[in-house]
Amino acid sequence: MNKTKIIATIGPSSKSKEVIKNMITEGVDVIRINMSHSSFDDAKDVILKVREINRELNNVTGIMIDIKGPEIRLTNLEKNKIKLEAGNTIRIVKNNVVGNSEIVSLTLPDVIDYIKMGERLVINDGSIELNVLSKTSDTLICEIKNDGYIKSFCSVNIPDADFNLRFLSEFDRETIKFAVMMGVDYVALSHVKDQMDVLDINDLLIELSDDHIQIISKIENKNAIDEIKNILKVSDGVMIARGDLGIDIELAKIPSVQKKIANMAKESGKICIIATEMLSSMQDSPRPTRAEVSDVANAVLDGTDAVMLSSETAVGKYPIETVVTINNIINEIEKEIDYNSLLLEYNRKEKLAIPDAISYSAVDCANRVNASVIVCSTLSGKTAKKISNCRPSASVIAISPDEKTVSSLTINYGIIPVKVPMLDSTDEIIRVSVKTAKDVFKLKEKDRVVVVGSFPLETVSYTNFIRIEEIKE
Ligand code: PEP
Repeated sequence: MNKTKIIATIGPSSKSKEVIKNMITEGVDVIRINMSHSSFDDAKDVILKVREINRELNNVTGIMIDIKGPEIRLTNLEKNKIKLEAGNTIRIVKNNVVGNSEIVSLTLPDVIDYIKMGERLVINDGSIELNVLSKTSDTLICEIKNDGYIKSFCSVNIPDADFNLRFLSEFDRETIKFAVMMGVDYVALSHVKDQMDVLDINDLLIELSDDHIQIISKIENKNAIDEIKNILKVSDGVMIARGDLGIDIELAKIPSVQKKIANMAKESGKICIIATEMLSSMQDSPRPTRAEVSDVANAVLDGTDAVMLSSETAVGKYPIETVVTINNIINEIEKEIDYNSLLLEYNRKEKLAIPDAISYSAVDCANRVNASVIVCSTLSGKTAKKISNCRPSASVIAISPDEKTVSSLTINYGIIPVKVPMLDSTDEIIRVSVKTAKDVFKLKEKDRVVVVGSFPLETVSYTNFIRIEEIKE
Protein backbone atom coordinates (compact mmCIF):
# COMPACT_ATOMS: atom_id res chain seq x y z
CA MET A 1 0.00 0.00 0.00
CA ASN A 2 1.38 3.44 -0.96
CA LYS A 3 2.36 5.94 1.72
CA THR A 4 2.05 9.19 -0.25
CA LYS A 5 -1.62 10.13 -0.28
CA ILE A 6 -3.73 11.11 -3.31
CA ILE A 7 -6.25 13.96 -3.31
CA ALA A 8 -8.71 14.12 -6.22
CA THR A 9 -10.78 17.17 -7.17
CA ILE A 10 -14.39 16.52 -8.11
CA GLY A 11 -16.00 18.21 -11.12
CA PRO A 12 -18.31 17.36 -14.02
CA SER A 13 -16.13 14.37 -15.05
CA SER A 14 -16.14 12.76 -11.64
CA LYS A 15 -19.25 13.77 -9.71
CA SER A 16 -21.13 10.50 -10.27
CA LYS A 17 -21.10 8.01 -7.42
CA GLU A 18 -19.65 5.36 -9.72
CA VAL A 19 -16.61 7.45 -10.70
CA ILE A 20 -15.99 8.62 -7.11
CA LYS A 21 -16.19 5.01 -5.89
CA ASN A 22 -13.80 3.81 -8.59
CA MET A 23 -11.33 6.59 -7.81
CA ILE A 24 -11.42 5.68 -4.10
CA THR A 25 -10.96 1.99 -4.87
CA GLU A 26 -7.95 2.88 -7.06
CA GLY A 27 -6.24 4.82 -4.26
CA VAL A 28 -7.79 8.25 -3.66
CA ASP A 29 -7.58 9.18 0.04
CA VAL A 30 -9.19 12.61 0.06
CA ILE A 31 -11.91 14.18 -2.09
CA ARG A 32 -11.54 17.91 -2.76
CA ILE A 33 -14.42 20.21 -3.68
CA ASN A 34 -13.31 23.52 -5.18
CA MET A 35 -15.85 26.19 -4.24
CA SER A 36 -14.61 28.45 -7.07
CA HIS A 37 -16.51 26.06 -9.34
CA SER A 38 -19.12 24.38 -7.14
CA SER A 39 -22.50 25.33 -5.68
CA PHE A 40 -23.39 24.40 -2.10
CA ASP A 41 -25.98 21.91 -3.41
CA ASP A 42 -23.43 20.17 -5.64
CA ALA A 43 -20.88 20.11 -2.82
CA LYS A 44 -23.42 18.58 -0.43
CA ASP A 45 -24.32 15.95 -3.02
CA VAL A 46 -20.63 14.94 -3.38
CA ILE A 47 -20.09 14.81 0.41
CA LEU A 48 -23.13 12.57 0.91
CA LYS A 49 -21.96 10.28 -1.89
CA VAL A 50 -18.47 9.98 -0.33
CA ARG A 51 -20.02 9.11 3.05
CA GLU A 52 -22.24 6.47 1.40
CA ILE A 53 -19.21 4.98 -0.39
CA ASN A 54 -17.23 4.95 2.87
CA ARG A 55 -20.00 2.93 4.49
CA GLU A 56 -20.22 0.52 1.54
CA LEU A 57 -16.44 -0.02 1.36
CA ASN A 58 -15.85 0.21 5.12
CA ASN A 59 -13.31 2.83 4.21
CA VAL A 60 -12.16 6.24 5.44
CA THR A 61 -11.96 8.96 2.78
CA GLY A 62 -11.31 12.52 3.90
CA ILE A 63 -13.16 15.55 2.54
CA MET A 64 -11.57 18.90 1.71
CA ILE A 65 -13.45 22.11 0.88
CA ASP A 66 -11.30 24.61 -1.03
CA ILE A 67 -12.58 28.14 -0.41
CA LYS A 68 -12.65 30.68 -3.20
CA GLY A 69 -10.62 33.33 -1.35
CA PRO A 70 -10.15 36.93 -2.44
CA GLU A 71 -9.78 36.38 -6.15
CA ILE A 72 -10.15 38.74 -9.09
CA ARG A 73 -11.86 37.59 -12.29
CA LEU A 74 -13.11 39.17 -15.54
CA THR A 75 -16.88 39.71 -15.53
CA ASN A 76 -19.17 38.27 -18.22
CA LEU A 77 -18.12 38.47 -21.90
CA GLU A 78 -20.26 38.80 -25.06
CA LYS A 79 -19.07 35.32 -26.10
CA ASN A 80 -17.68 32.69 -23.74
CA LYS A 81 -14.28 32.74 -25.48
CA ILE A 82 -12.80 35.83 -27.18
CA LYS A 83 -9.46 36.09 -28.99
CA LEU A 84 -7.06 38.92 -28.08
CA GLU A 85 -4.22 39.82 -30.44
CA ALA A 86 -0.71 40.89 -29.48
CA GLY A 87 -0.01 44.61 -30.03
CA ASN A 88 -3.67 45.70 -29.71
CA THR A 89 -4.92 47.60 -26.67
CA ILE A 90 -7.79 46.77 -24.33
CA ARG A 91 -9.55 48.96 -21.75
CA ILE A 92 -10.31 47.70 -18.25
CA VAL A 93 -13.07 49.84 -16.75
CA LYS A 94 -14.60 50.25 -13.29
CA ASN A 95 -18.20 50.16 -14.59
CA ASN A 96 -19.58 46.69 -15.04
CA VAL A 97 -19.66 45.93 -18.79
CA VAL A 98 -20.31 42.84 -20.87
CA GLY A 99 -16.79 42.45 -22.20
CA ASN A 100 -15.33 41.98 -25.67
CA SER A 101 -11.88 42.22 -27.28
CA GLU A 102 -11.72 46.00 -26.64
CA ILE A 103 -13.24 46.53 -23.20
CA VAL A 104 -13.65 44.36 -20.07
CA SER A 105 -14.46 44.84 -16.36
CA LEU A 106 -13.41 43.05 -13.17
CA THR A 107 -15.32 41.31 -10.36
CA LEU A 108 -13.45 43.60 -7.90
CA PRO A 109 -13.40 46.93 -9.84
CA ASP A 110 -11.80 48.95 -7.01
CA VAL A 111 -8.44 47.21 -7.46
CA ILE A 112 -7.97 49.54 -10.46
CA ASP A 113 -7.10 52.24 -7.89
CA TYR A 114 -4.04 50.24 -6.78
CA ILE A 115 -2.65 49.27 -10.20
CA LYS A 116 0.16 51.48 -11.51
CA MET A 117 1.37 52.25 -15.03
CA GLY A 118 3.88 49.67 -16.27
CA GLU A 119 2.42 46.86 -14.10
CA ARG A 120 1.44 43.46 -15.49
CA LEU A 121 -1.96 41.77 -15.49
CA VAL A 122 -1.97 38.05 -16.18
CA ILE A 123 -5.28 36.75 -17.50
CA ASN A 124 -6.81 33.26 -17.78
CA ASP A 125 -4.24 31.28 -15.74
CA GLY A 126 -1.31 32.88 -17.52
CA SER A 127 -2.50 32.55 -21.14
CA ILE A 128 -2.50 36.32 -21.76
CA GLU A 129 -0.33 39.08 -20.38
CA LEU A 130 -1.30 42.77 -20.43
CA ASN A 131 0.89 45.76 -19.66
CA VAL A 132 -0.69 48.96 -18.27
CA LEU A 133 0.15 51.82 -20.70
CA SER A 134 -1.89 54.55 -19.01
CA LYS A 135 -4.68 55.06 -16.49
CA THR A 136 -7.43 57.43 -15.43
CA SER A 137 -9.46 57.23 -12.21
CA ASP A 138 -11.77 54.60 -13.69
CA THR A 139 -9.92 53.05 -16.65
CA LEU A 140 -6.71 51.16 -17.38
CA ILE A 141 -5.46 51.16 -20.95
CA CYS A 142 -3.39 48.03 -21.49
CA GLU A 143 -1.23 46.66 -24.28
CA ILE A 144 -1.89 42.99 -25.14
CA LYS A 145 1.52 41.29 -24.99
CA ASN A 146 0.64 37.97 -26.65
CA ASP A 147 -2.12 36.30 -28.70
CA GLY A 148 -4.55 34.23 -26.63
CA TYR A 149 -8.10 33.77 -25.40
CA ILE A 150 -10.05 35.30 -22.56
CA LYS A 151 -13.16 33.60 -21.14
CA SER A 152 -16.11 34.83 -19.07
CA PHE A 153 -15.07 34.92 -15.40
CA CYS A 154 -11.52 33.75 -16.11
CA SER A 155 -8.79 34.54 -13.55
CA VAL A 156 -6.92 37.86 -13.35
CA ASN A 157 -3.60 38.01 -11.48
CA ILE A 158 -1.75 41.24 -10.75
CA PRO A 159 1.60 39.89 -9.51
CA ASP A 160 3.35 43.20 -8.75
CA ALA A 161 0.45 45.26 -7.38
CA ASP A 162 0.63 46.37 -3.78
CA PHE A 163 -2.80 45.90 -2.21
CA ASN A 164 -4.36 43.70 0.41
CA LEU A 165 -7.81 42.40 -0.45
CA ARG A 166 -10.04 41.74 2.54
CA PHE A 167 -9.52 38.03 3.04
CA LEU A 168 -12.81 36.73 4.29
CA SER A 169 -15.59 37.58 1.81
CA GLU A 170 -19.24 36.90 2.63
CA PHE A 171 -19.16 33.92 0.26
CA ASP A 172 -16.09 32.45 2.01
CA ARG A 173 -17.76 32.97 5.39
CA GLU A 174 -20.81 31.05 4.13
CA THR A 175 -18.49 28.37 2.72
CA ILE A 176 -16.78 27.88 6.09
CA LYS A 177 -20.17 27.66 7.83
CA PHE A 178 -21.20 25.06 5.25
CA ALA A 179 -17.94 23.11 5.81
CA VAL A 180 -18.58 23.06 9.57
CA MET A 181 -22.22 22.02 9.10
CA MET A 182 -21.18 19.16 6.80
CA GLY A 183 -18.39 18.06 9.18
CA VAL A 184 -15.66 18.09 6.52
CA ASP A 185 -12.06 17.35 7.52
CA TYR A 186 -10.00 20.03 5.76
CA VAL A 187 -10.53 23.58 4.55
CA ALA A 188 -8.03 24.84 1.96
CA LEU A 189 -7.55 28.62 1.98
CA SER A 190 -6.93 30.19 -1.43
CA HIS A 191 -4.67 33.24 -1.88
CA VAL A 192 -3.43 33.41 1.73
CA LYS A 193 -0.94 36.29 2.06
CA ASP A 194 0.10 36.11 5.71
CA GLN A 195 -0.71 34.53 9.06
CA MET A 196 -3.49 37.07 9.76
CA ASP A 197 -5.52 35.60 6.89
CA VAL A 198 -5.22 32.17 8.51
CA LEU A 199 -6.00 33.47 11.99
CA ASP A 200 -9.21 35.09 10.66
CA ILE A 201 -10.41 31.66 9.54
CA ASN A 202 -9.25 30.14 12.81
CA ASP A 203 -11.31 32.74 14.72
CA LEU A 204 -14.35 31.94 12.62
CA LEU A 205 -13.94 28.20 13.34
CA ILE A 206 -13.73 29.00 17.07
CA GLU A 207 -16.84 31.20 16.76
CA LEU A 208 -18.60 28.24 15.11
CA SER A 209 -17.37 25.89 17.91
CA ASP A 210 -15.51 23.68 15.45
CA ASP A 211 -12.45 21.83 16.70
CA HIS A 212 -12.22 19.26 13.91
CA ILE A 213 -11.49 21.07 10.64
CA GLN A 214 -7.78 21.36 9.75
CA ILE A 215 -6.63 24.48 7.93
CA ILE A 216 -4.52 24.01 4.82
CA SER A 217 -3.03 27.29 3.59
CA LYS A 218 -2.50 27.41 -0.16
CA ILE A 219 0.86 28.94 -1.00
CA GLU A 220 0.24 30.64 -4.33
CA ASN A 221 1.80 34.10 -4.23
CA LYS A 222 5.12 35.80 -3.47
CA ASN A 223 3.86 37.25 -0.22
CA ALA A 224 2.93 33.82 1.14
CA ILE A 225 6.42 32.53 0.27
CA ASP A 226 7.98 35.41 2.21
CA GLU A 227 5.63 34.74 5.14
CA ILE A 228 5.85 30.94 5.04
CA LYS A 229 7.34 30.50 8.52
CA ASN A 230 4.53 32.47 10.16
CA ILE A 231 1.86 30.85 7.98
CA LEU A 232 3.12 27.37 8.95
CA LYS A 233 2.94 28.27 12.64
CA VAL A 234 -0.82 28.87 12.49
CA SER A 235 -1.86 26.32 9.82
CA ASP A 236 -2.32 22.54 10.03
CA GLY A 237 -0.66 22.24 6.66
CA VAL A 238 0.23 23.92 3.39
CA MET A 239 -0.56 23.24 -0.24
CA ILE A 240 2.03 24.25 -2.81
CA ALA A 241 -0.57 25.47 -5.32
CA ARG A 242 1.63 25.59 -8.39
CA GLY A 243 -1.12 26.89 -10.70
CA ASP A 244 -1.45 30.40 -9.32
CA LEU A 245 2.08 30.30 -7.90
CA GLY A 246 3.41 29.83 -11.43
CA ILE A 247 1.78 33.11 -12.42
CA ASP A 248 3.05 35.05 -9.43
CA ILE A 249 6.66 33.84 -9.55
CA GLU A 250 8.93 32.74 -12.40
CA LEU A 251 8.11 29.15 -13.43
CA ALA A 252 11.81 28.24 -13.16
CA LYS A 253 11.68 28.95 -9.42
CA ILE A 254 8.85 26.49 -8.68
CA PRO A 255 10.95 23.33 -8.14
CA SER A 256 13.23 25.00 -5.57
CA VAL A 257 10.33 26.71 -3.79
CA GLN A 258 8.53 23.33 -3.71
CA LYS A 259 11.55 21.62 -2.11
CA LYS A 260 12.05 24.38 0.47
CA ILE A 261 8.39 24.50 1.53
CA ALA A 262 8.09 20.69 1.66
CA ASN A 263 11.15 20.60 3.97
CA MET A 264 9.88 23.39 6.18
CA ALA A 265 6.46 21.74 6.50
CA LYS A 266 8.07 18.43 7.53
CA GLU A 267 10.37 20.14 10.02
CA SER A 268 7.43 21.87 11.67
CA GLY A 269 5.34 18.68 11.68
CA LYS A 270 2.73 20.14 9.32
CA ILE A 271 0.99 18.56 6.33
CA CYS A 272 2.42 19.23 2.86
CA ILE A 273 0.42 18.85 -0.37
CA ILE A 274 1.91 19.36 -3.84
CA ALA A 275 -0.72 20.39 -6.36
CA THR A 276 -1.56 21.24 -9.95
CA GLU A 277 -0.62 19.99 -13.41
CA MET A 278 0.80 16.77 -11.98
CA LEU A 279 -0.62 14.71 -14.85
CA SER A 280 -2.11 17.56 -16.86
CA SER A 281 -1.90 15.88 -20.28
CA MET A 282 -4.15 13.10 -18.96
CA GLN A 283 -7.06 15.51 -19.22
CA ASP A 284 -7.15 14.53 -22.88
CA SER A 285 -4.92 11.49 -23.16
CA PRO A 286 -4.95 8.08 -21.44
CA ARG A 287 -1.15 8.28 -21.03
CA PRO A 288 0.93 10.93 -19.24
CA THR A 289 4.13 12.51 -20.58
CA ARG A 290 7.53 11.30 -19.31
CA ALA A 291 8.08 14.71 -17.70
CA GLU A 292 4.83 14.46 -15.74
CA VAL A 293 5.79 11.01 -14.45
CA SER A 294 9.09 12.47 -13.23
CA ASP A 295 7.30 15.43 -11.65
CA VAL A 296 5.06 13.15 -9.56
CA ALA A 297 8.06 11.01 -8.56
CA ASN A 298 9.99 14.13 -7.55
CA ALA A 299 7.12 15.35 -5.41
CA VAL A 300 7.26 12.01 -3.56
CA LEU A 301 11.04 12.33 -3.14
CA ASP A 302 10.57 15.89 -1.89
CA GLY A 303 8.76 14.27 1.05
CA THR A 304 5.23 15.54 0.46
CA ASP A 305 2.36 13.96 2.41
CA ALA A 306 0.06 14.07 -0.60
CA VAL A 307 -0.14 14.86 -4.29
CA MET A 308 -3.26 16.48 -5.68
CA LEU A 309 -5.13 16.02 -8.97
CA SER A 310 -7.15 19.04 -10.13
CA SER A 311 -8.48 19.41 -13.70
CA GLU A 312 -7.33 15.86 -14.46
CA THR A 313 -10.13 14.38 -12.32
CA ALA A 314 -12.51 17.38 -12.32
CA VAL A 315 -12.91 17.96 -16.05
CA GLY A 316 -10.59 15.44 -17.73
CA LYS A 317 -11.63 12.55 -19.95
CA TYR A 318 -9.80 9.92 -17.88
CA PRO A 319 -10.33 10.53 -14.13
CA ILE A 320 -10.00 6.88 -13.07
CA GLU A 321 -7.04 6.14 -15.36
CA THR A 322 -5.30 9.23 -13.94
CA VAL A 323 -5.70 7.90 -10.39
CA VAL A 324 -4.38 4.47 -11.44
CA THR A 325 -1.39 6.17 -13.12
CA ILE A 326 -0.46 8.41 -10.19
CA ASN A 327 -0.82 5.45 -7.82
CA ASN A 328 1.57 3.37 -9.95
CA ILE A 329 4.15 6.16 -10.11
CA ILE A 330 4.02 6.60 -6.31
CA ASN A 331 4.33 2.84 -5.83
CA GLU A 332 7.45 2.59 -8.00
CA ILE A 333 9.31 5.59 -6.57
CA GLU A 334 8.53 4.77 -2.93
CA LYS A 335 10.58 1.54 -3.38
CA GLU A 336 13.64 3.78 -3.80
CA ILE A 337 13.25 5.74 -0.55
CA ASP A 338 15.96 5.17 2.06
CA TYR A 339 13.89 5.40 5.25
CA ASN A 340 16.88 5.00 7.59
CA SER A 341 18.41 8.20 6.19
CA LEU A 342 15.09 10.00 6.56
CA LEU A 343 15.00 9.07 10.24
CA LEU A 344 18.60 10.22 10.70
CA GLU A 345 17.66 13.57 9.19
CA TYR A 346 14.81 13.80 11.69
CA ASN A 347 17.06 12.98 14.63
CA ARG A 348 18.40 16.51 15.10
CA LYS A 349 17.02 17.27 18.54
CA GLU A 350 18.63 15.67 21.56
CA LYS A 351 15.76 16.36 23.94
CA LEU A 352 12.26 15.28 23.01
CA ALA A 353 8.91 15.44 24.80
CA ILE A 354 7.53 12.01 25.79
CA PRO A 355 5.13 11.55 22.80
CA ASP A 356 7.88 12.66 20.40
CA ALA A 357 10.43 10.34 22.01
CA ILE A 358 8.00 7.39 21.87
CA SER A 359 7.11 8.15 18.23
CA TYR A 360 10.74 8.46 17.21
CA SER A 361 11.69 5.29 19.09
CA ALA A 362 8.78 3.33 17.59
CA VAL A 363 9.96 4.22 14.09
CA ASP A 364 13.60 3.49 14.93
CA CYS A 365 12.56 0.19 16.48
CA ALA A 366 10.33 -0.75 13.50
CA ASN A 367 13.14 0.07 11.04
CA ARG A 368 15.67 -1.98 13.04
CA VAL A 369 13.52 -5.10 13.56
CA ASN A 370 12.12 -4.81 10.05
CA ALA A 371 8.53 -4.59 11.29
CA SER A 372 5.91 -4.56 8.56
CA VAL A 373 3.47 -2.36 10.42
CA ILE A 374 3.37 0.16 13.27
CA VAL A 375 -0.05 0.28 14.91
CA CYS A 376 -0.77 3.42 16.87
CA SER A 377 -3.73 3.48 19.21
CA THR A 378 -4.71 7.13 19.35
CA LEU A 379 -7.55 9.24 20.70
CA SER A 380 -6.63 12.63 19.22
CA GLY A 381 -4.47 11.43 16.30
CA LYS A 382 -1.46 13.46 17.48
CA THR A 383 0.88 10.50 18.08
CA ALA A 384 -0.01 8.93 14.72
CA LYS A 385 0.94 12.23 13.06
CA LYS A 386 4.25 12.35 14.92
CA ILE A 387 5.05 8.79 13.83
CA SER A 388 4.15 9.65 10.22
CA ASN A 389 6.38 12.71 10.45
CA CYS A 390 9.41 10.47 11.21
CA ARG A 391 8.70 8.80 7.82
CA PRO A 392 8.88 5.14 8.89
CA SER A 393 9.62 2.34 6.46
CA ALA A 394 6.64 0.41 7.89
CA SER A 395 3.05 1.41 7.18
CA VAL A 396 1.27 3.07 10.10
CA ILE A 397 -2.19 1.94 11.08
CA ALA A 398 -3.88 4.49 13.33
CA ILE A 399 -6.67 2.86 15.34
CA SER A 400 -9.13 5.08 17.15
CA PRO A 401 -12.65 4.83 18.54
CA ASP A 402 -13.26 8.42 17.42
CA GLU A 403 -14.71 8.76 13.92
CA LYS A 404 -13.47 12.36 13.61
CA THR A 405 -9.92 11.41 14.62
CA VAL A 406 -9.92 8.67 12.03
CA SER A 407 -10.99 10.97 9.17
CA SER A 408 -8.55 13.68 10.32
CA LEU A 409 -5.59 11.41 9.45
CA THR A 410 -6.42 10.83 5.79
CA ILE A 411 -3.76 13.16 4.32
CA ASN A 412 -0.82 12.27 6.59
CA TYR A 413 1.96 10.26 4.95
CA GLY A 414 1.73 6.50 5.41
CA ILE A 415 -1.21 6.50 7.85
CA ILE A 416 -4.02 4.01 7.33
CA PRO A 417 -6.81 5.17 9.66
CA VAL A 418 -9.13 2.47 11.06
CA LYS A 419 -12.05 2.96 13.45
CA VAL A 420 -12.21 0.45 16.31
CA PRO A 421 -14.36 0.18 19.46
CA MET A 422 -13.17 1.85 22.69
CA LEU A 423 -10.42 -0.42 24.11
CA ASP A 424 -10.24 -0.74 27.87
CA SER A 425 -7.01 -2.54 28.66
CA THR A 426 -3.44 -2.76 27.36
CA ASP A 427 -4.10 -6.39 26.39
CA GLU A 428 -7.13 -5.30 24.35
CA ILE A 429 -5.10 -2.57 22.59
CA ILE A 430 -2.46 -5.12 21.64
CA ARG A 431 -4.96 -7.80 20.58
CA VAL A 432 -6.96 -5.37 18.38
CA SER A 433 -3.76 -3.81 16.98
CA VAL A 434 -2.40 -7.17 15.83
CA LYS A 435 -5.77 -8.28 14.47
CA THR A 436 -6.21 -5.00 12.54
CA ALA A 437 -2.68 -5.29 11.12
CA LYS A 438 -3.49 -8.86 9.99
CA ASP A 439 -6.82 -7.74 8.46
CA VAL A 440 -5.25 -4.87 6.51
CA PHE A 441 -2.05 -6.63 5.41
CA LYS A 442 -1.48 -10.30 4.62
CA LEU A 443 0.99 -10.84 7.47
CA LYS A 444 2.90 -14.14 7.73
CA GLU A 445 4.16 -16.06 10.75
CA LYS A 446 7.08 -14.22 12.43
CA ASP A 447 6.16 -10.88 10.80
CA ARG A 448 6.58 -8.11 13.36
CA VAL A 449 4.17 -5.43 14.43
CA VAL A 450 5.18 -2.49 16.63
CA VAL A 451 2.31 -1.31 18.83
CA VAL A 452 2.24 2.17 20.35
CA GLY A 453 -0.41 3.40 22.75
CA SER A 454 -1.31 4.84 26.10
CA PHE A 455 -2.78 3.24 29.15
CA PRO A 456 -4.55 3.66 31.55
CA LEU A 457 -6.63 6.21 29.60
CA GLU A 458 -8.16 7.74 32.75
CA THR A 459 -4.81 8.89 34.13
CA VAL A 460 -2.40 9.10 31.17
CA SER A 461 -2.99 11.78 28.58
CA TYR A 462 -0.02 10.93 26.38
CA THR A 463 1.38 7.92 24.56
CA ASN A 464 3.42 5.88 27.02
CA PHE A 465 4.20 2.41 25.69
CA ILE A 466 5.82 0.58 22.77
CA ARG A 467 5.58 -3.17 22.31
CA ILE A 468 6.84 -5.50 19.60
CA GLU A 469 4.58 -8.43 18.68
CA GLU A 470 5.47 -11.35 16.43
CA ILE A 471 2.72 -12.97 14.38
CA LYS A 472 2.18 -16.49 15.71
CA GLU A 473 0.21 -18.61 13.28
C1 PEP B 1 -3.48 26.19 -7.79
O1 PEP B 1 -3.56 27.37 -8.12
O2 PEP B 1 -2.49 25.48 -8.04
C2 PEP B 1 -4.59 25.58 -7.01
C3 PEP B 1 -4.48 24.39 -6.48
O3 PEP B 1 -5.72 26.31 -6.82
P1 PEP B 1 -7.04 26.25 -7.71
O4 PEP B 1 -7.17 24.83 -8.20
O5 PEP B 1 -8.13 26.67 -6.80
O6 PEP B 1 -6.79 27.19 -8.82
